Formats: sequence, C-alpha cells, structure tokens
Amino acid sequence: MPLLRLENVSKDYNVNQGFMAGRGIRLSALAGVSLTLTPGQTLALVGESGCGKSTLSRLALALERPSAGRVFFSGQDLNALSPRRLRALRTQMQIVFQDPATSLNPKMTVREILSEPFIIHNRKENMEEEIIFLLRAVGMAPEQARLYPHQFSGGQRQRIGIARALALRPSLLLADEPVSALDVSVQAQVLNLLLTLKEQFGLTYLLIAHDLSVVTHLADRLAIMYLGKIVETMPAAALESFAGLHPYTQALWRSAPSLTPGRKPPPLTGEMPSPLAPPSGCRFHPRCPEALSLCAREEPALQEIGPGHFRACHLEARL
Ligand code: SF4
Repeated sequence: MPLLRLENVSKDYNVNQGFMAGRGIRLSALAGVSLTLTPGQTLALVGESGCGKSTLSRLALALERPSAGRVFFSGQDLNALSPRRLRALRTQMQIVFQDPATSLNPKMTVREILSEPFIIHNRKENMEEEIIFLLRAVGMAPEQARLYPHQFSGGQRQRIGIARALALRPSLLLADEPVSALDVSVQAQVLNLLLTLKEQFGLTYLLIAHDLSVVTHLADRLAIMYLGKIVETMPAAALESFAGLHPYTQALWRSAPSLTPGRKPPPLTGEMPSPLAPPSGCRFHPRCPEALSLCAREEPALQEIGPGHFRACHLEARL
C-alpha cells in the first residue's frame, strides 16, 4: 500500500486583495496532481519557486484541504478523518524546514526544543534518554542539549531540526529545501546524514527542492513540477537519458552546473507566468525552446515513455 497518495488534487485560492478585491479571481496553485509514494521511497519534487511545491506539501501533511481530489496517508483519506484521528496520524508525518535559523525558537535550549514533541503528544516516558539518543543520531553530543540555537552553526541547527522531526518516530519525513539555506560546504554533510537516518529510522522521504543537483544523490524518483502541474515523473536514474527528458527538466538539469560540467548555460529564459492566468495548452510553451504550434492549443497528457517514466509533452519520446 502506498504511504502517501495524491489523487487528482487541485488547490485554488481566492485572490481578494488590493486591486483584485471584489473581482472574484481565483489562483490555481495546483491543478490535477496525482502522486504515489511507497514506503521506503525517496521522492523528490523539483521545480522553480512558485510552481506549487509548497502547496503540495501542505496538502500532503493535511495542513490545508484540497479544492478537489483526495490525499491518502496509509490508505486513509486525510480529509475524511476526525480531528482527533488526524492529530494522531500527523505524528507519523513530520517536516524539516528550509531555514533552521527561523524554525527553532531562539529562547529555548536544544533540550527544550527536543522535549516539545514528547510533551505535546504526552509521550514523556524515557524522554531524557530519547533526547540523548536523537542528538547522537544526528551527530551531536548530549552535552549540547543545554545550549541555545544561536550558539550553533547553520548545519548544526539543521541537525537539531532533523532531530526534532524524528522525535515521534514518523514514517514520512517531508524535507522542504533542507540544505538551500546552508553553506555549500555543509550541504553534502546534511544530505549524507539524511541518507543515513533514512536507513536507521526506516523513513520515507518527500524532498522538496528547486535544484536538481541537490536531490539526485538521495532520490529514487523525481517529480518535476511547472506552474501547478507535474510535467514529468520518473526513476532518478532516467535523468541520464538526457535527450528523452521533458524540455523543462532538461532546462533544470542544465541550470545545475555541478551536474552538467561543460554543458551550455541554462536555456531557460523569462519568468514563470502567473498562476492567475496560466498559458493555454502546455503551460511551459512560452518558455519552451522546442515548442510546436500545437503546444499553445493542446495540453499534453502525462504518458508513459519508459518503465515508470511519465512525461507530458507533444514531442516524440527519444529514449
Ligand atoms: Fe515544449 Fe510543447 Fe513539450 Fe510543452 S508540449 S514542453 S511546449 S514541446
């Protein structure tokens, strides 16, 4: 059974502020997204800022309700659960935030930060031993529990955030740009730590990233998002068959210099269009270097072009 499943999920927001007030305009943040995450898998959701990744993660954690479609966790429809049942289920899904500097309370010691989940969920038995265990699991010393977040480096603060997320032994860990706020020199350390913890704690990961190079070492599968839609989903290894990829995935790949030494600079030009008025047909067509005349008229459906590899594009697949 999938651990997490999104079934044709859409999310619209009423835009009713400033000069748009009273116009009844709706912003389509997600449009008909389906995704499956099996236990033990690492799925990376990749796309530029504003593509809908954060909206999708809020829906996956039941922090918001979809406008249409359903979200299942361990086979249970999250939006059909009672608040009590949902609260209990939420302990199984935890999040690591992008910026550890803002996600940790500066007035609390590490011990207090790590105590919180146990206290909130009334699991105080063995709490002190658990805190020591968690600190060691993320490569920190038990004595550091008495210090405050500002006494640590960015990488160490992210380790504390990861320890807090693991406290209740979740099955799903959603990591929202987990290293993008860190120095390049410590990014690899934190990514390696996530790899180690996945094995140690039997975790399933949903990784959110804008940079393909950050996730290729961790992910089993990739889902590429553009303007509220999944345009490609595939095994991470399929990245190697560059020519067969969706033009947007190719552009993201070329934009990751560490992945493509010697390749040409990014061909991606222009800004992502507003989700208030998405382009007709293929939403990527105004920026696509390979667009056909058909692309502005007809929206391409996701089609399987290789084992487990789905792509939404009118171009002939050349794998
Ligand atoms: Fe480009 Fe057309 Fe494919 Fe969209 S459908 S990615 S515009 S070639």
